[in-house]
Amino acid sequence: MIELIGASRTYKIGAIEVNALRTTNLKIEQGEFVAIIGPSGSGKSTLLHILGFLDRPDKGTYRFQGKDVTALGSKELALLRNQMIGFIFQQFHLLPRLSAIQNAMLPLIYGGKGHFQETASEKIRQVGLGHRADHVPNELSGGEQQRVSIARALVNDPLLLLADEPTGNLDSKSESEIISILEGLNHDGKTIIMVTHEKSIAERASRIIQMHDGKIVSDTYSRQPSAGMSEMAAAKHNMASQKTGLRRTAEFLDHLKQSFQSIIGHKMRSVLSMLGILIGVGAVIAMLAVAGGARESISENLSKLGSNLLMIWPESHNSRQGVSLGAGAVPSFTLEDAMAMKKLPLIRRASPYISGRVQLVYGNKNWNSRLEGTGTDYPEMKNIQVQTGRFFTEEELRSRDRVAVLGVTIVSELFGEENPLGCNIRINRVNFRVIGVLKPRGGGHWDNDDVIMMPVTTAMYRMLGRKYVDRMEVEVRNAEMIGQAQEDIKDLLAKRHHLNNEARDNVSIRDMTEIQNMLNATTKTMSWLLGSIAAISLLVGGIGIMNIMLVSVTERTHEIGLRKAIGARDSDIMLQFLIESVVMTVTGGLCGIMLGCGVAVLLSKLAEWPIKVSLFSIVLSVTFSMAIGLLFGILPARQASKLDPIKALRYE
Ligand code: ADP
Repeated sequence: MIELIGASRTYKIGAIEVNALRTTNLKIEQGEFVAIIGPSGSGKSTLLHILGFLDRPDKGTYRFQGKDVTALGSKELALLRNQMIGFIFQQFHLLPRLSAIQNAMLPLIYGGKGHFQETASEKIRQVGLGHRADHVPNELSGGEQQRVSIARALVNDPLLLLADEPTGNLDSKSESEIISILEGLNHDGKTIIMVTHEKSIAERASRIIQMHDGKIVSDTYSRQPSAGMSEMAAAKHNMASQKTGLRRTAEFLDHLKQSFQSIIGHKMRSVLSMLGILIGVGAVIAMLAVAGGARESISENLSKLGSNLLMIWPESHNSRQGVSLGAGAVPSFTLEDAMAMKKLPLIRRASPYISGRVQLVYGNKNWNSRLEGTGTDYPEMKNIQVQTGRFFTEEELRSRDRVAVLGVTIVSELFGEENPLGCNIRINRVNFRVIGVLKPRGGGHWDNDDVIMMPVTTAMYRMLGRKYVDRMEVEVRNAEMIGQAQEDIKDLLAKRHHLNNEARDNVSIRDMTEIQNMLNATTKTMSWLLGSIAAISLLVGGIGIMNIMLVSVTERTHEIGLRKAIGARDSDIMLQFLIESVVMTVTGGLCGIMLGCGVAVLLSKLAEWPIKVSLFSIVLSVTFSMAIGLLFGILPARQASKLDPIKALRYE
């Protein structure tokens, strides 16, 4: 079954060469029970590792079942280890958080044969541990742990059992029990190769190979090998095994479970290392919720205004106070301009608009507020309604009457519970009569109800002392005619003010879509800003995760070695650690989402800010955390997957 032809293995430590195995020829047949003995450092383990596909000879050939396996790649060797070999180690190498049965199941997961539970529990019973199947290793005695590892070695029904000092860590009673189990297995046809330094144990084998200084110095048979497996039974071990869907799911679930166990096993450490991701995601969710809320309330206010409104400024925004500069300048608008615009066929309504700050006094109360002087069309255009009383009339506008309509904020500040209608208040020391109160308009981040409205004429001449209005507000009959209406308005202004073409084009007209676009641009900038904050915090979080994963790889070197010995390929180990880091970051991300939502709700309650947590931001956060896990998990996972199984198993 096994044939080494001129095989040797040399280790190089700096300039020194250690001939761990000198040129060796060896044949082992099916059903043999071979003990390899010899002093420490004589090359026993090296030979065993080569026979178990954990290592390759530098020179010579290794034939297994008649096939040359010397030059196989690490992937094929992993498959061979999984399907053909069962390892039993001196230190047992059981995974501490898994129960006996779960430990025994591991090779099946990499082998993907199915019936994990049944097969593993059958083997656990076979080694006499049926009653302790659900115990974790540190609840088991040394002898019991070694039985679990024998069950694990048997679970894939291998051709060959390799035992490296299987009784080295055991008391004499357990020692003889373990050897009896091995004898029994050999009797049933399993080929066993066992390294030991104890003569009494070696004598239980059918053949004793003695090594010294990397060479076989004697090779004796004490009895005939057992009947051995039939050719038929051996033939069922077909080396080609596909990675089945079953294997993939089982492996994935195993990794997922391991990841959670590892996180729960190191609660404090995991929480601390997730903190970066958690805070980053939380902050982004909360900020996006506030920004989204603000945006929503602004666009809601905008849409209330209707989409066919235009705002017209003379020239640029900056010179709207009537200071016209340069040759292409437009003179400021007068009330007559508004009247003329109203008469254009495409225009339904038009109103001049002027605003300023004023000081209000009623009784002994003072309040500073915004004054808005408008035409009589203005409330209808802007969807402003009176709650009690009325708006001013055309007549009052013409005669510049001192009448005012108040927003509810002013009413509550100056009048409290008193009815303001018909009362006199002083605005910038001028007496006014209150004729109406506006319906509350609400608002996002500024108060739309802290406003006092009056005829534009009163505002211009009696209050603010201006000859021109700030801007015109115009409602076009039909939203589709907005383009034409803008041209008509420009033509009208050009005619009335004798403007040249340049000045005509300088008239600035804004429609709501423009404001909407501006708003969108602002939110976009804000999103970028938030995005970069998020990126930085997630980067920091990712580095934290990478750090802890590197620690985890070092801590679990034995585990990695063992997994490789029982058939995990490099890619399986890589996947395991990637899954673990993704589980960490996604858990952090989910906690972050909860934190962010919590903070957003708190803000909306305490600061009364409108908030909106969007599904998009949640999906984005989860995706991002996942990506961070993958990105920052790659380095540790690669490191783990590249570990040499022998070194990993021997790691102190
Ligand atoms: P044994 O199992 O009989 O104690 P080993 O096969 O472990 O012996 O080792 C044989 C020799 O090879 C020893 O001198 C040991 O120091 C050396 N050796 C084993 N593994 C390595 C390695 N990875 N690097 C360098 N030297 C090694």
